[in-house]
Amino acid sequence: MAVKRKRKRYRGRRLRPQFILFCAVMVALVCGLVLLLRRAPVFRHDNATAVPSGDPVAGEVSTIPAGYISAEGDIHSGSLILVSNDHPYTFPAEVELVTTLEQNISGYMARDYTVKQEKAAFTAFDSLFRAFAAATGKQDVNISSAYRSYDEQQEVYAASAAENGRDHADSYVTQPGCSEHHTGLAVDLTRYDVRTGHSYDFTGDGEYGWIHTHGPEYGIVMRYAADKEPITGIAEESWHLRYVGVPHAAYMAEHNLCLEEYLDLLRDYPVSNPLRYNGFYMYFCPDGQLLVPESGDYTVSGNNVDGFIVTVQ
Ligand SMILES: [Zn+2]
Repeated sequence: MAVKRKRKRYRGRRLRPQFILFCAVMVALVCGLVLLLRRAPVFRHDNATAVPSGDPVAGEVSTIPAGYISAEGDIHSGSLILVSNDHPYTFPAEVELVTTLEQNISGYMARDYTVKQEKAAFTAFDSLFRAFAAATGKQDVNISSAYRSYDEQQEVYAASAAENGRDHADSYVTQPGCSEHHTGLAVDLTRYDVRTGHSYDFTGDGEYGWIHTHGPEYGIVMRYAADKEPITGIAEESWHLRYVGVPHAAYMAEHNLCLEEYLDLLRDYPVSNPLRYNGFYMYFCPDGQLLVPESGDYTVSGNNVDGFIVTVQ
């Protein structure tokens, strides 16, 4: 009997450390859970699974401004994407392109049936070139190049390097995979004389300056200006126009900003403090935290770097 009692007491003493360990584990678990909930992101789509509804921490969820909801998006697509040697283009599985000469164009030309453009960009360029012809009577503007595949850009770069050397090519032609032409949002212009069959550089001089001046009203900018070369890395190209959308082009022109500078500026305008301009407002959302208005007209574009620009009318 005495031996049995002794054994029981011994086993009783062995239970205490296990109980303490159990308590310690439970305390650690509760602390861990509290920390996890306190550190939960404020956006509804991020913490929907972490924070059950009715939980006291759910108060943080209301930091999404009233009238906005979270949404999914692709930062690599949209009219404001920055495509350059530092920011290569992410080729989508499918591209919606229109063949310029299959459209009912008038007052300008396209080189041939290989000239293709992104749909919204085509509409904007078409309106601009028609308006130019109506305003000046000149109908010799010719789209010599628009959308280019990776292989086509490689050919353009190789041809430029072979003709003028690699340094010259690097000043004017972006690397394959890094050209705005991959997006279908950019066009190169020449002037084409139908009587002689000769092409001339599009310099934007004289009456042709109308296109650079009025382009922003149609969402179009001259992408590579001489004074922006240190930022863009590309020498002046008066013939290369880029569709970025309304009202962005007008803001860029009014404030003399190239796309790189404009996208930097927009990062200072979150949803809580949007940039208001010409009856629109624009704001930046970091990647993974896209917020869009619950109702009304708006567009979303990635910047191809770190987030989205939402434009609300
Ligand atoms: Zn170009």
